Amino acid sequence: MLEIRGLDAFYGDFQALFGVDLSLQPGQTLALIGANGAGKSSFLHAICGMTQARGSVRLGDTDLAALPAVGRAAAGVALSPEGRRMFLSLSVRENLLMGANVRRRGPWTLDRVTGLFPILGEFADRPAGLLSGGQQQMVAIGRALMANPALLLLDEVSLGLAPVVAQEVHAALAMLRDQSEMITIMVEQDVNRAIAAGDRFLCLLEGRAALTGPCAGADLDAIGRAYFGED
Ligand code: ATP
Repeated sequence: MLEIRGLDAFYGDFQALFGVDLSLQPGQTLALIGANGAGKSSFLHAICGMTQARGSVRLGDTDLAALPAVGRAAAGVALSPEGRRMFLSLSVRENLLMGANVRRRGPWTLDRVTGLFPILGEFADRPAGLLSGGQQQMVAIGRALMANPALLLLDEVSLGLAPVVAQEVHAALAMLRDQSEMITIMVEQDVNRAIAAGDRFLCLLEGRAALTGPCAGADLDAIGRAYFGED
């Protein structure tokens, strides 16, 4: 399980997160929501060791907070970053294989990733830079899966994607959610889509947890008020 207590994050003197708590069981997906600048990316970066942080982050028996970023990757944390960040001149296959650099034992292979996203199999030899935004998002998610993560962090899953493409990406993620013991934290701008894709949600407001709860039966009006900081 993932157990986060009192997580703070900093950029130099600037504090971006304030005492955020979270517990997730194996197989659960968290929909992480909040306005621009609320601290969603900072939360993911604090978990994977990419920004200065304070607090307790435990994944199973591992104290992630005690490890550098590479140690957290080896312990099973993989990030699909905002903006996808891939090598545009390298092929889709080569980009996917990058994800296997720090790899745990597990079910994810090139074949399995291209089974989840068949278009990546078709375009395996194509430079990633020639793919559409949606296809690049699939590469970024597939690359993270190649590490066989226990904790998958997905930043801005559908930012900039056409609705039909965003739906396609979410359909693949829904299959993952049904099939796997992986814990997933998903940042998704579209609140309705986020709630539909998660087991639990956490709404951040100015670096603090404004509202959290199960997605099933979530009160969208209350989430809207938490999102905008209205009483
Ligand atoms: P967005 O949807 O715009 O990506 P977010 O919820 O992911 O927003 P963060 O990117 O985590 O928010 O930003 C939280 C706060 O931290 C913001 O005030 C932002 O300006 C600040 N911040 C983020 N990255 C840095 C950085 N590298 N240096 C300084 N401040 C930063």
